[in-house]
Amino acid sequence: MSSQHLNDIGHEPAVEGVCGESSPGRGYDCAVADCLFCKIIAGDIPAERVAESSRTLAFRDINPQAPTHVLVIPKDHYPDLASLASSDAGLLAEVALQAQQVADAEGIATSGYRVVFNTGAEAGQTVFHVHAHVLGGRRMAWPPG
Ligand code: 5GP
Ligand code: ZN
Repeated sequence: MSSQHLNDIGHEPAVEGVCGESSPGRGYDCAVADCLFCKIIAGDIPAERVAESSRTLAFRDINPQAPTHVLVIPKDHYPDLASLASSDAGLLAEVALQAQQVADAEGIATSGYRVVFNTGAEAGQTVFHVHAHVLGGRRMAWPPG
């Protein structure tokens, strides 16, 4: 395996891309086999989309945990926050900006909202395509469960 298959933190990708080579330093720029969120991006699985940019997508969580529960994802596949942050910090900033825009559109920007990246199994990550949960519309407890 060539070094081009390694991401910036030197780890092999956790999942195999269906489009062959990844772009060095960018992670994948195409759909990843058996990734639920790549299928939502492609339109193969329906979702209630609430916002979209050229590189990000926001859609409602199928099992909402608050009156507003939207997931914001990069269209390129990165398995988790660490791989996105180390490979494309600008794209991470676009995800954060879209989270703020969703909060604005949902009317929770002023009252307050929570942005969560579950990272790894023990934190509760079940879909390994990085996503920001945008939660609001009710008072949030701390510490989280
Ligand atoms: P995680 O547990 O990885 O932090 O978050 C994954 C989220 O994806 C969960 O909140 C779950 O409800 C949501 N989810 C799982 N499958 C689907 C789906 O098919 N459509 C949508 N819109 N959300 C999904
Ligand atoms: Zn994916």
